[in-house]
Amino acid sequence: MFVLNQNCFSNKEGIYYSCPWIEHGLVFFPSKITMCCFCGSKKDEYAVLQENFDGNNFNIERIFEIKDKFRKFQKKGKIHVNCKNCLSLKSDAWDERNYIDAVYISHWTTCNSKCSYCFSIQNPDEFKFKQYHVLEIIKNLFEKGILKRNSKILFGGGEPALLDEFEALIDFLLDNGFQDIRVHSSGISYIPCLEKGLKEGKIHLTISVDSSSRETYKKIKNVDCYDVVRSNIRKYASSKMKNGEANVSAKYIIIPSVNDTKEELENWLISNKNDGLSYTILDIEENWYTQNKNNIPSHIYELLKYAQQRSVELGTHFELYERIGSLFY
Ligand code: SF4
Ligand code: SF4
Repeated sequence: MFVLNQNCFSNKEGIYYSCPWIEHGLVFFPSKITMCCFCGSKKDEYAVLQENFDGNNFNIERIFEIKDKFRKFQKKGKIHVNCKNCLSLKSDAWDERNYIDAVYISHWTTCNSKCSYCFSIQNPDEFKFKQYHVLEIIKNLFEKGILKRNSKILFGGGEPALLDEFEALIDFLLDNGFQDIRVHSSGISYIPCLEKGLKEGKIHLTISVDSSSRETYKKIKNVDCYDVVRSNIRKYASSKMKNGEANVSAKYIIIPSVNDTKEELENWLISNKNDGLSYTILDIEENWYTQNKNNIPSHIYELLKYAQQRSVELGTHFELYERIGSLFY
């Protein structure tokens, strides 16, 4: 359903409100394909491209028809109800040709962690679906010139290391010159096939740690794997790029009342530096954020500033994921 959004009118010919994912993105979710992996204005609801997807009924022509339909509405200032207030919407002269340059493989079929904040904990049905395969779809789109070599390819939503086609996917992407591959992992299992892409700077690996001690880790993740994760981080960080940096980040999701202390954050920053990482990534727990976004306590802002300042001092690039980024800037 499309709704009129007064903020999304553009009077200039060829200019309209849209986002990169509506234009050229695909997300493989359990049993469906969506435009993006963000929930625009409504929690857990997406702009869907195909329901009841099982890996065998992929239809790119139909997907492009839906994207065209979105464009037609957006040119009239109408936005899909699930995208209505999304911060990714912007007015631009979008390239309306039909191609794909962003793919998110978000399988949600299995994970080796049990993070308290995980989408799957609040939505246990998500893990009920069987894994389907996307390798042949990706190959086919690439061979037809529909999937661009400069595409952003992301893995997340469950543990990619546990996918039986993960290594084949990574090999295919690297062998065919893809340079912007982003993998989100729990870090509990080491994935050797990532080493080549890390060294070449074509893969960025993000490992969710959220803590600086075994106790806090266990409280958040509900598995006792802090030491193995830190050991895997060190191993990944040894696959350095030519410039001497490791294209690996440890991510810290701030969970108020659990890990929102300067001490925990400082120890995490130091562990990252000692383990050879070159990036600092912060985010904030989604459910807490949704309930408190209009009343964020001052110590959260102070923590963010502190992490930024310490990242500069330690020489680790500072990055904020979208949710928390909107607080900072
Ligand atoms: S929710 Fe936002 S990012 Fe996703 S398709 Fe809609 S506008 Fe784009
Ligand atoms: S690592 Fe990711 S997918 Fe796995 S339980 Fe944690 S949040 Fe969920």
